[in-house]
Amino acid sequence: MVATIIDHIIPFSGYLPSREYPPVIAGPCSAESERQVLETARQLARLPEVAAFRCGLWKPRTRPGEFEGVGAEGLAWLRKAKQETGLAIAVEVALPQHIELCLKNEVDILWIGSRTVVNPFSVNEIASALKGVDVRVMVKNPVNPDLLLWIGALERLHQQGIRKLAAVHRGFSAYHCKPFRNLPQWEIPIELRRLVPDLPVLVDPSHISGNRAMLRPVMQKAADLAFDGLMIESHVDPANALTDGDQQVSPKELADLLARIEWPVNNANEVGREDAGENIRLSIVDLRLSIDEVDGEILRLLAERMELVKKIGARKKELGMDALQLERWTRLVEDRLEKGASLGLSRNFLLKLLHTIHEEALRIQ
Ligand code: PEP
Ligand code: MN
Repeated sequence: MVATIIDHIIPFSGYLPSREYPPVIAGPCSAESERQVLETARQLARLPEVAAFRCGLWKPRTRPGEFEGVGAEGLAWLRKAKQETGLAIAVEVALPQHIELCLKNEVDILWIGSRTVVNPFSVNEIASALKGVDVRVMVKNPVNPDLLLWIGALERLHQQGIRKLAAVHRGFSAYHCKPFRNLPQWEIPIELRRLVPDLPVLVDPSHISGNRAMLRPVMQKAADLAFDGLMIESHVDPANALTDGDQQVSPKELADLLARIEWPVNNANEVGREDAGENIRLSIVDLRLSIDEVDGEILRLLAERMELVKKIGARKKELGMDALQLERWTRLVEDRLEKGASLGLSRNFLLKLLHTIHEEALRIQ
């Protein structure tokens, strides 16, 4: 059991005015130009769900030579966007100097990105720079699926007096992520909510999905699980975005997506919060999520198996062998039936499954 002392957290309703709850924080992955920032903010401000405008100025990029953000120059654009639209402004910070610049320029919400959260030295520096400052801070999950590292970052900020604190779930890096960009592993943010019940936890469907097609199911899942809000990337011209173009949507597309999301009836931040163990609705959702993840794994393994089949097929051709090697197949079936039986799988089901797989293997060889 992990004991945490993240208490006296102020709920969103105390500092993130939203015409509709749960709130949505939307905006481009990166600020690119004054026109792009202002036009995106103007269009997003028309959506009642949007409570704040997110925008990256300093971009942590995987490879050198990629667009690393406009930096401090964009702060003036964000100030204008705030004056014109009244939206709260959210910016990612990774270094104490980012914080200083943001605070000077009336940035309302700071967030710590996933690549920074993994490093306790960086989080300590950020937390020290925020000591005694009354600012709202969001902490994304670390890139690796480490709940304690996430909690540790929240605790470091909490220790410096930050109470307008929230977490953002943006998925976890893995070598095989398909069909996501970052694996959701929903059990981790659910466990965070269980351990720190007062902490608002948002979901960032953009970085979980990595593409527009996945946004809707991920948003719906966040709603089914009664998370406290969404952080979504939106750009006036996604096709020409300098970063994360595949996952950004226009404000109009975002409005359509939001209109189709069904949140639990009595906006049950309650529903998700009651207790993962006792709440029937949540336990069904949880089980479905686990089933989805297991199915994803089965599909990935099947694809891996078929790749091996293609390779062996090519080799058999080179050697002039038939695709069907009856003796090997007979032995394989016996072995799999035995292994499956020890796992409690029925013989009939296994036979059907093995035949289906074999049929496809012969087809593609
Ligand atoms: C972002 O929000 O644009 C970003 C860089 O996100 P993450 O830290 O989740 O990768
Ligand atoms: Mn991004």
